[in-house]
Amino acid sequence: MKKLALFEQQLSATPIVPLNIECGENRFWMKREDMLPFSFGGNKVRKAAEFYEEIIKSEADVVMTYGSYSSNHCRIISNMAASMGLQCHIISPEENREALFNTRMVEQFGAVIETCPVNEVAQTIENRKEHFFKEGKKPYFIAGGGHGNPGTQSYVKAYREICAQEKMMGLDFDYIFHASGTGTTQAGLVCGQLLEKDFSRRIVGISIARDRKKGRAVVKESIKEYLGEDYTEYFEEAALIFEDAFRCGGYGKYNDEICDVICALMFREGIPMDTTYVGKAFWGMLRYIEENHISDKRILFLHTGGTPLFFDHFALLDRCGKDNDRK
Ligand SMILES: *Cc1c(COP(=O)(O)O)cnc(C)c1O
Repeated sequence: MKKLALFEQQLSATPIVPLNIECGENRFWMKREDMLPFSFGGNKVRKAAEFYEEIIKSEADVVMTYGSYSSNHCRIISNMAASMGLQCHIISPEENREALFNTRMVEQFGAVIETCPVNEVAQTIENRKEHFFKEGKKPYFIAGGGHGNPGTQSYVKAYREICAQEKMMGLDFDYIFHASGTGTTQAGLVCGQLLEKDFSRRIVGISIARDRKKGRAVVKESIKEYLGEDYTEYFEEAALIFEDAFRCGGYGKYNDEICDVICALMFREGIPMDTTYVGKAFWGMLRYIEENHISDKRILFLHTGGTPLFFDHFALLDRCGKDNDRK
């Protein structure tokens, strides 16, 4: 198994940049997780760096994962497997989605994609593992989206990184907003906060798909799993805010306002955002701030990545382009 020099050492801190956004007398910053220096970045890189260590320790020869093969997760995992010289096997639900840039990259990295009906996923994973064992191979399985303790751990580290950056910048953030999907990113950030016993700020996960009940329960479960015996001592219900009011009808759905926000950020700040995660969550954050009359606060938004998805929806920039307002 080949080593990946980048993941052999601790990742360097991603930049926190100021934004020129007007919304309720607040000041805004963005942490550019999209600039993590592997395969177009994003939160899946941070998670992958933790799984990398587990894979090295396990001496596996096949990396298996579950997820849509158009996902950021599958792009990162298949690229990592390719760089380590390992076979990559992706179990993906059957879907009628057009091929995205992520899909094409996953294919280029040589991952084998096995599709199955959504209700047969668990069985398909078990069968495939069994098959590899029989062939004398040693698979390492990564849950969809990089869910699980290593994924959580990666965002506990990111939380500590934010605290260190605050010290250097001489300011404290009152809020941290981010897109929440499988909830692993949120679980890590909240665990970081709980372990530091630092309740001076709120972390708000803007759901991109799940309803509050399910989404919150999954984040809580991840927190429980990560904290283990310390859970009862550390957990606080109030630290877990999973906001589902800005889902626009579900995963992948978006509206004109989200497109306008994406255009504004690209034209005015030079920052690309996608419609499924980051653009949606950023728009959700602005609405949340308005609806809750939040003012005079220092607000950090975590840009969790998805750069290739930006290019899949490149045409939406026409809304802002050329003869549009150059104010
Ligand atoms: C996967 C993903 C998320 C969601 O992260 P979770 O840890 O699953 O909640 C957010 N943004 C982007 C760009 C992603 O790819």
